[in-house]
Amino acid sequence: MTGQQVVDVVVPAALRFLLPGRDRSAGMRRLRFDPDATVGHVVQAAGVPLTEVGGLRLDGVPTDPRARTSPGSRIEVTEAARPESPPGGGFVLDVGLGALARRMRLLGLDVAWRNDADDPDLVARAVAEDRVLLTQDRRLLMRRALPRGALVRGSRPDDQLADVLDRFSLDLAPLTRCTACGGVLDPVPKEEVAHLLEAATRRTYDEFVRCRACRRVYWHGAHARRIRTLIEHARMFSPPAGAGEPNRS
Ligand SMILES: [Zn+2]
Repeated sequence: MTGQQVVDVVVPAALRFLLPGRDRSAGMRRLRFDPDATVGHVVQAAGVPLTEVGGLRLDGVPTDPRARTSPGSRIEVTEAARPESPPGGGFVLDVGLGALARRMRLLGLDVAWRNDADDPDLVARAVAEDRVLLTQDRRLLMRRALPRGALVRGSRPDDQLADVLDRFSLDLAPLTRCTACGGVLDPVPKEEVAHLLEAATRRTYDEFVRCRACRRVYWHGAHARRIRTLIEHARMFSPPAGAGEPNRS
């Protein structure tokens, strides 16, 4: 490719893991100029979903994803600012993020998750319920119909949770959501659920909550230490700059 028939995409250190391995140390990907491609198309062709992008400059001038490039253009990308506010409807999580979904629900976040949702289902739910889609599949984030999405960093669920808590400003309300289905938990008198409890639980605990949707019963003692550990881990965590998607090397 000669100099005038290319477009360069320059990405900051935090997003270099999205580039092909050979381009990561330079933090730049060179693509063939395409007169029909917008800035947004070119950035995503370089491997970076627009959900991960904060600002864009085209040949030194702030621009937006719909702008057109020229032969020899240079596009500079900045990382999406943290923390961002989530939409009113909460989150919808990709199929592979079930362990993250349970942790987020434990902290009281509104999380939709099913183990059998396909890509169109996930996008449709994000649109219909004003949710932000969390996934580790960057192609899914590049779907045009998706209003809000985020690429979850980290391969271990605790690291993924820490990344989500770092990325979004969230009000945590532990033990207000069912970890199994995401339903709202209401206080329930002990005598109503006593027959469902093991003897040791019945002796030890007096305060119980029950899921409005699936009727599971919870008590505080069982989860208190787990919640403390999750939040402490999240506070110590900073998102990995290079260790991103487990499904890409
Ligand atoms: Zn439930």
